[in-house]
Amino acid sequence: MAAVIRSSASATSTIMNRAGTMVTAAVAVGLIGLCSHLARGRRRRRHRPPPVTLAQRRELAAITAVPVTQQMARWSKSFPNVKFNPSFFAKLEAIRQNGRSKLVTIADFDWTLTGFHNEKGVLCKTSYGVLTSSPLVDEKYRDRAAEIKAKYFPYERDYTITTERKHELMVEWWNTVHEAMVAYPFTKTLVHDSIRHAVETNCLFLREGTSTFLASLERANIPLLVMSAGMHQTVEQTLRMKGLLHPTTEVCANTMGFADDGKCVSFTPVHPVHSGNKSFTSVPAQSGFRAECRARSVKDEAGPNVLLLGDSMGDIHMTRGLAASTVLSIGFLNDDIEKRLPEFMGSYDAVICHDGNMDLPLQILEMLSSDSSAATSRST
Ligand SMILES: [Mg+2]
Repeated sequence: MAAVIRSSASATSTIMNRAGTMVTAAVAVGLIGLCSHLARGRRRRRHRPPPVTLAQRRELAAITAVPVTQQMARWSKSFPNVKFNPSFFAKLEAIRQNGRSKLVTIADFDWTLTGFHNEKGVLCKTSYGVLTSSPLVDEKYRDRAAEIKAKYFPYERDYTITTERKHELMVEWWNTVHEAMVAYPFTKTLVHDSIRHAVETNCLFLREGTSTFLASLERANIPLLVMSAGMHQTVEQTLRMKGLLHPTTEVCANTMGFADDGKCVSFTPVHPVHSGNKSFTSVPAQSGFRAECRARSVKDEAGPNVLLLGDSMGDIHMTRGLAASTVLSIGFLNDDIEKRLPEFMGSYDAVICHDGNMDLPLQILEMLSSDSSAATSRST
C-alpha cells in the first residue's frame, strides 16, 4: 500500500395535597414518555428496514446471468429503501469480474459516512459545524457563523440559479467562513478540543454500518479516499477517535494551516473544495491514493473500478479527472425524498433513501470477498 496519509414541553409539576391528583399527574407524565418512546420507535421502524438475512445475501451473490428485471426485483426486496437503476447490475457484474484487486472507493464524509439524523431526530453536525458552532467558542463568534450559514445555505439547495452563479456563491461562502475562523482566531488546541467534544457527545456520529464498512475495506485491502468539501482536521480526527483511520485511507479536504503560536492563519487549497466543485483533480499529485489507482488499472490506461458514495448531486463528480473503468455510484438521499429522488436517480446507479444504513455497500464488499475466496480455492 502506498503512502499512509495521517495526514417537553417543559415538565412543571405542582405538588398537590391530594394523593390522587399526584398519582394522576405521575401517570400523565408516564404516558407522555411512553407516547414519545412509541413515536420514536415508529420513526425507527419506518426508516430502518429489517436487516438483510444471510439467506438473502447468498441468493443475491449467486445471481449473475439472470435478466436485469429479475435481479432488480430480488435486490429491491432485500433492500426496500433502495431504488436501483438497471445500470447498477451491469456495473456490479463488471466490478465482480475484475475483482477487488482492481477496486478503489471514493466517499464523501458529511451525511454520507456520517449519519444525517440520530434516532431522536437530531441532525448530525457537519465537519465545519463542529467548529463553527462549538460550545467552546464565544457566543459572538457562533452568532457570526450562524449568520453566514443563514445567508448562503439556501443558495446551496436552490436549483433555480445557474451553475456558474452557484459556484461563485459557494466560493464566497467558504472564503467568508475561513476569514471568520482566522479572525477569531481558532487555535490548534481549540480545533482538537471542539472535534473531540462533538464526537464524545455524539453531536457528530457515523452512519449505521459505517464502522463495519470501513473495517471491511481495510480487511479486503481496498483503498479509500474520503473526499470532502468539509474540514480535513475533523474528518481525520473523527476517524482516528473511532479507530478507523486505516493505512489504506486518505483524506482530501480543506485543511487549516497553523502558525508556530498555534493560531490558524490559512487554509489549503487556496481555492476551497466546496459542494459544487468536487473533482479528482484536487487530489495532490504525490497522493498515495493516486498511485493505488494507477496500480489497480483494469487494463493498460483504463484505470481502476470505483465504488463511489455520496449524498449530494456534487458528489457524483468526485471521479471527474480520474481515468476510471467502471464507476458504481451509490447516493444517500437523506431528506426531501419525493422532490429530489428523480434528480438522484438520473445520476446515481442506486439511491439509498431515508437516511439508510451501509448494508448495500457492505453487500457488495461481501460478494467481492466471497468471489475472491472462491477463485483462490479453485486455483489451489
Ligand atoms: Mg455530504
